[in-house]
Amino acid sequence: MKFLEYEAKKIFGSYGIPVPRGVLISSPEDLESGVAQSIGDGVVLKAQVDVGGRGKAGGILMSDQDTMARTARELFGRDIKGVPVREILVEERVSIDHEYYLSIAIDRSTKQALILFADSGGVDIETVAKEDPKALRKASVPVILHDIPAFMLRELRGDAPKEVEKIINSLYRVFCEKDALLAEINPLVSTPSGIIAADAKLIVDDNALKRQGITQNRDLTEREREAERHGFSYVELEGDIGVIGNGAGLTMATLDLIEFYDGKAANFLDVGGGADQERVRHAVNLVAGVSSVKVIIVNLLGGITRCDDVARGIVEAGVDQQIIVRLAGTNEELGNEILAGKGYRMMDSMEDAVQAAVEASR
Ligand code: GDP
Ligand code: MN
Repeated sequence: MKFLEYEAKKIFGSYGIPVPRGVLISSPEDLESGVAQSIGDGVVLKAQVDVGGRGKAGGILMSDQDTMARTARELFGRDIKGVPVREILVEERVSIDHEYYLSIAIDRSTKQALILFADSGGVDIETVAKEDPKALRKASVPVILHDIPAFMLRELRGDAPKEVEKIINSLYRVFCEKDALLAEINPLVSTPSGIIAADAKLIVDDNALKRQGITQNRDLTEREREAERHGFSYVELEGDIGVIGNGAGLTMATLDLIEFYDGKAANFLDVGGGADQERVRHAVNLVAGVSSVKVIIVNLLGGITRCDDVARGIVEAGVDQQIIVRLAGTNEELGNEILAGKGYRMMDSMEDAVQAAVEASR
């Protein structure tokens, strides 16, 4: 789950990383009480939206105390790459001498924390890597370490001010203790009064939300949340073929075959083991509820799952879209009988079922 800038800054600040003074407002009227007066004359208004390249997309406006209210009204009236502005972080405008880049992410191949520090910040790190690779330094740290070894901090920092080392280590502590997938400061800026995190990004591993005391994953869509309630593994995709399978392997194989036959899957949905009539009905209704879904493929293997239960669940869902079914295993004949009586299309093999679904989607 992604944290917004102001939330990430609060956390970074509590780990001793210097952040600009600021207040969060949710309407221009919030400024009337004078909450932002102590920030200083020059201010920056930053839309709290989860959008990449927010600055370039018009989500950051410079202002001062006199024009702040008007600027806030303007920013609240905008949408940034289609995302409406509901909250604004009003911050002191810092005078920037130099911008650096700092991030910590998981390196999946080595299972370590990958720390990146670059002498140029405020731009995409991909651009730095391509155009000025010498400005970018890396270090890998096994996350069992409580602190980053001093020699690594020195190497990462290069010619940047010494205080950067402490900030890198503090961000590493955030990264470990918050179960993060990514902790990023872009740009980390040097100012006449020291080094400050001008921006902040923090993504927490969804599998760690419970441990982090987070009860709801805000990044999920309404449908993804419903799927979670039913215990389905569900991911929304871009295509028009709804997919329901049991077991991650079989469901993935179904997606692969759809791709192979030049179709486009609308989702991944694994109903899990022991899918009964109710679960199948919920799964079919969930997938059919996506307006772009033209056809649904149900690919289930009966083991503990009984094919006749599955068939009844499909019939009971009673959705508008065509459903192509491939059932194999326990009570297969009975299941196919139930479906045949209701005019559903059944296929013996997965290949045939997928090909039929792809054709129907055209
Ligand atoms: P992003 O576009 O979402 O990454 O937003 P950032 O918070 O990184 O801001 C984008 C750019 O705006 C930064 O790289 C800075 O150049 C500039 N900026 C942000 N805050 C300040 C500030 O307080 N003072 C000055 N001078 N520039 C700022
Ligand atoms: Mn940024």
